[in-house]
Amino acid sequence: MPLNIMEAMAAGLPVVATSCRGNRDLVRDGENGLLVRADDVAGFVRSIELLYKSKEFRQTLGEKGRSLVKAYTVDRVLSYLKDIYSIYLKPKGKGTFVLSLDTELAWGSFDLGISKRQRAALLATRPCITKLLMLLKEHNISATFAFIGHLMLDRCASDQGIKHGNLVRPDFSWYPRDWFSEDPASDIAEAPLWYGRDILLQVLEAQPKHEIGCHSFSHIIYGAPGCSRACAESDLSECVQTADMLDLKLISFVYPRNHAGHKDLLFRYGFRIYRGLGNEWFQKIKNSLLRKLCHMIDQFLGLVPETSLPFKEESGLYNTVGNMLYMSRSGIRRLIPVTSRVRKAIRGIDRAIEKGEVFHLWFHPSDLASDPKGLLSGLDRIFSYVRRKIDEGVLDNCTMGQLYERYGTINTSGE
Ligand SMILES: [Zn+2]
Repeated sequence: MPLNIMEAMAAGLPVVATSCRGNRDLVRDGENGLLVRADDVAGFVRSIELLYKSKEFRQTLGEKGRSLVKAYTVDRVLSYLKDIYSIYLKPKGKGTFVLSLDTELAWGSFDLGISKRQRAALLATRPCITKLLMLLKEHNISATFAFIGHLMLDRCASDQGIKHGNLVRPDFSWYPRDWFSEDPASDIAEAPLWYGRDILLQVLEAQPKHEIGCHSFSHIIYGAPGCSRACAESDLSECVQTADMLDLKLISFVYPRNHAGHKDLLFRYGFRIYRGLGNEWFQKIKNSLLRKLCHMIDQFLGLVPETSLPFKEESGLYNTVGNMLYMSRSGIRRLIPVTSRVRKAIRGIDRAIEKGEVFHLWFHPSDLASDPKGLLSGLDRIFSYVRRKIDEGVLDNCTMGQLYERYGTINTSGE
């Protein structure tokens, strides 16, 4: 595109130009200028004479030229270019399967009271994790294991009756006691529900490589009013230090009870991506009992789950929405057959492929203990489907951390 002609048009001048490619795109003969054949010397002279003799003609062509050239302003052209780049930068046509696992044992529910049945399930979690790792290996699928920081330890001790005295306590209405009052301050052999170094090592040694993520140090509910900034900060700092001693770098975070808060602190402590809450229809229901019931109906019917792409938030953190909970079979949830869960997950995977988005499945490994045989065979069917789609070239699998690496550089607020 000849810039000199654009400049003339922008200046409101009529243009006499040879009729060649590029010039023709800008000059419309008789509208905003005059076109002549490249070897037509006489025609060129005539055109200049024509303009010289009629001021009115010059002005008409010039004004038309000035309005036509507006299509080529820097703003317009940049926006076209941006659209073109975004089409090719977006990994369209391939879905992504992400699996995250809230690994928490007793820390996940001690503040609400652990029933006898729950305790039995927690005690049966280790063999379930072993079997889960075998399934992941068989189908070559990587997951993010979001660990409670305290589970990375194999022991801890109290100092003059105070446990973890360096940590700022939360002030939760539903748990008036000291947050660490139930911490046994012993070791993994004596209190296997409170320490999990063995699980961590098992996950680290497993194939394919899994990601170690963070689920807070002691399952403090970051989004609840009782978790002050100082409390969140001391908890985060303890996670990072504990991981550091094991040569682990944490960048993925899963909020206890999915209740997000203090996101800017997470970013400051090196986290880059967290699992957010979905936009499912039942999430909008205020009454928590009704919401749970509707979630159950949704699962029972195996409705198509949402899929999404990770997006950057103001804090700098990326949000990857958890699209589906692979529900336990404890209590009333037993009424939902495993097939419903499998059907729902497969619909989610298909949707992710169709839309070129992410389907993010999650659960607690301890959930498997409510029906190890049924739930593991359900996972086997889901993982088989994932593997088949990966082999067909329409699906990818990655961890939360890899998702950040993939999207963190291109999907930034449209820049
Ligand atoms: Zn402890």
